[in-house]
Amino acid sequence: MMKNPETKRPGRTQLIACHLCGLDQTVAVLKEGERARCARCCATIRERKVNSIDRTLALALCGLALFVPANIYPIMSFEVVGRSNDNRLISGVIGLFQDDAHIVATMVFATSVLAPLLIFLCTIAVLVPIRMGRPQFSSAALRRLLDRLGRWAMLDIYLLAIAVAYAKLSNFGEVELQGGWGPLLGTIVVSILVSFSYDPGAVREAIDRGAITRTDAHPRKNFAVTVALLATAAILFIPAYTWTVLSIVEYGQVHHDTVYGSILELTSGGQYLLGALVFCASIFIPAFKVVALTLLVISVRMRSKIWRSERLMLYRIIEAIGRWAFVDLFVVSILIALGELGVFATVTPGPGLIFFAGVVISTMLAAIYFDPRLIWNAAEE
Ligand SMILES: [Zn+2]
Repeated sequence: MMKNPETKRPGRTQLIACHLCGLDQTVAVLKEGERARCARCCATIRERKVNSIDRTLALALCGLALFVPANIYPIMSFEVVGRSNDNRLISGVIGLFQDDAHIVATMVFATSVLAPLLIFLCTIAVLVPIRMGRPQFSSAALRRLLDRLGRWAMLDIYLLAIAVAYAKLSNFGEVELQGGWGPLLGTIVVSILVSFSYDPGAVREAIDRGAITRTDAHPRKNFAVTVALLATAAILFIPAYTWTVLSIVEYGQVHHDTVYGSILELTSGGQYLLGALVFCASIFIPAFKVVALTLLVISVRMRSKIWRSERLMLYRIIEAIGRWAFVDLFVVSILIALGELGVFATVTPGPGLIFFAGVVISTMLAAIYFDPRLIWNAAEE
């Protein structure tokens, strides 16, 4: 449904299937600044952003320029009785690998280093040929990759992890922000701006000018995989939240940390806001996702016709908040990198960490594999 009826231009229309409810609808080709919403569920199905190609290209180049110093220079330093250590983005990944937590190390590397870097590089590779007047050289594979990478780039969540690690470590010694902190903050701001200004519709139009009549391709969805992932997450919940995720040895004293214990520690130290944020990200969000997705799966299975708009809204909430569950994995990676101080202090991952990582990744994938179009279509069949 057009937001503004006078924007309809006969002859230039696109057939678009809503990515949320699956309704096929015809939309006039939009002008810059216009937006088309789904007639059934009100999701934005097309948006033409103003001057998107030039602006996004400039931002991506700027982001890449900031990403390099953000990775080269240390972000934080930690000092206990004259021994100090500092942390780069990659240090936590290396620390986790050395402690044999390979899966968690890979997850942290993919979301804090690889995905943000690939987004900048792919954006530049897709947009430069268009800007140079050679849109035929803009790779379709890279555009598809770019569409999927967004949810996996988690530098904004890393920012919260830095705040949590800062608060935790100040109980043990001196913590200071270092030179890499400024470029990292810049990279995070620019990567958010890139995601706002990138306009896949404008790119597609620049590539295949003229007759545009197509139904959008949808990422692969699988109902059975969603159910299997939800069951996995539910089973992993118990060891994830009761077993030790982190062991801190300080002056020979061993301190075992569970997810819940580290939240109690923050709140008892007066860090109520951080404690509440970590509780939401690490406990509430994974639990909410499992319960809410289970309800959606059951309602689709029963071909329920009630509350379809509300259930679609629930799915959108799950998608929007899901990635924040990663925050504890980043906190662990920062603590492991900074806490390696020989005889004075060491921080090692505990047996619960892999189960916690399992909960985080299986709830995230369960939401990706769930097809929201079933909420409307299953009832219709
Ligand atoms: Zn819709």
